[in-house]
Amino acid sequence: MKCTEVRELLGNYMDQELTESMMQRIERHLLRCPACAYEARSLEQARQLLRQGVETPMVSEQLGERVLRHIAEHFPHLQTAHQPEELFSLPLLPGDFEE
Ligand SMILES: [Zn+2]
Repeated sequence: MKCTEVRELLGNYMDQELTESMMQRIERHLLRCPACAYEARSLEQARQLLRQGVETPMVSEQLGERVLRHIAEHFPHLQTAHQPEELFSLPLLPGDFEE
């Protein structure tokens, strides 16, 4: 199996979207080929960071949006009186309340 083929399939390999024989071929290649093994490792790390980066802020954003809408509906006067960032900083950090 060529390096270029392995690189193309690395993403699918990590998602285990390949047939078992394909998975094994890539695995064998990674064991013999440090360059592709390194590539696989970096890709794995990048994907982990991406997952963390996507999950955490998105939850906050959705929460923030809900709070924003709530404030706009119920406290229209607060919108202009305060910076939204200041209003959201406390409710979005539940750790602050556990002390
Ligand atoms: Zn290779």
